[in-house]
Amino acid sequence: MTSSAPSRLAMVPFVSVENMMRLVHHVGLRKMLVQLADAIESDFLRWETFDKTARVPSHSDVGVIELMPTSDGDFYGFKYVNGHPKNAAEGLQTVTAFGLLADVATGYPVLLSEMTVLTALRTAAMSALAAKHLAPKGAHTMAVIGNGAQSEFQSLAMAEIVGISTVRLYDIDPAATRKCARNLQGHGLTVTVCQSAEEAIEGAQIITTATADKKNSTVLSDNMVGAGVHLNAVGGDSPGKTELHRDILLRSSIFVEYPPQTRIEGEIQQLDPDHGVTELWKVLSGTEDGRTSQSQITLFDSVGFAIEDFSALRLVHAIALDAGFYTDLDLVADPDDSRDLFGMLMRAA
Ligand code: NAD
Repeated sequence: MTSSAPSRLAMVPFVSVENMMRLVHHVGLRKMLVQLADAIESDFLRWETFDKTARVPSHSDVGVIELMPTSDGDFYGFKYVNGHPKNAAEGLQTVTAFGLLADVATGYPVLLSEMTVLTALRTAAMSALAAKHLAPKGAHTMAVIGNGAQSEFQSLAMAEIVGISTVRLYDIDPAATRKCARNLQGHGLTVTVCQSAEEAIEGAQIITTATADKKNSTVLSDNMVGAGVHLNAVGGDSPGKTELHRDILLRSSIFVEYPPQTRIEGEIQQLDPDHGVTELWKVLSGTEDGRTSQSQITLFDSVGFAIEDFSALRLVHAIALDAGFYTDLDLVADPDDSRDLFGMLMRAA
């Protein structure tokens, strides 16, 4: 029998923004951040099994659109993501994303998902995973400079996974700081609103920079960073878009996701191409040192790598299908007779 109706096999589970939000509340936000950090850690521990490539960017004067693919041989995943710092002023998100997971054996997609919310969650989980290994022991206070869309996620992941209890907030736009402080109420953190980046970093063992500006900024200058601090630099993630003064990099032990991508996009684009950096997966696997002294400045030069999105998509695939937080999407043409694509089209007339 032939028909123009899509077969069940060809239906692709689709996790909308609404279903992603339901899923996060179903699991619990903090538990979801922990599960994401665990999923990323276990995939980083099998780093060598993945196909790896620096993401593929398309730059314009106002932003960048990127594709981020990877595969572990069983599944293939990619994320579409943009970065447009000027969007916020127009009431739009700076970063939006969606992603797809496919079965390598057939090439058929097995999941299409929103990833704007998921990217904020996975970026925060990744920051916290890095800080768990690099921040000074007993770190309790984090400065968060840049209080936009990522900031609350960063704060809660550091609270849950690293154990910080205080955040000190600063943004050049006081409305962003007010929003962040308001959103963090009731989440068990002591929140201090600061009037400058200098004030925010007072007493902080971890400094997160999550600003958005399409230029080489100096959110932190060299004299602001004291011994023993862990820097979590999230916002410098594109050529010509950095947050830290170069002199800070020269005093820091630098940890990165995938060097070929970070050399182009991260803070280390300011350094010589052969400047020594440590791949974070080697710290997780115990083959390279993380923090070795209380006075060392550690820097996680975060840019976001495809394996983190792959881990996130695998986790969402498992939970969303189990809990029913998806709809079927008629995405893949799949005629009963695989060679009769034309016949399927004609019968649909
Ligand atoms: P957003 O536009 O919502 O927020 C950015 C905030 O930074 C704004 O409130 C802005 O006022 C503030 N800001 C800009 N310049 C500042 C400065 N000099 N000092 C203090 N505050 C300043 O953006 P977002 O979605 O929160 O993302 C933040 C950054 O993180 C972006 O640059 C984005 O590209 C990056 N990002 C990185 C990753 C990663 O994996 N590394 C993932 C997601 C986003």
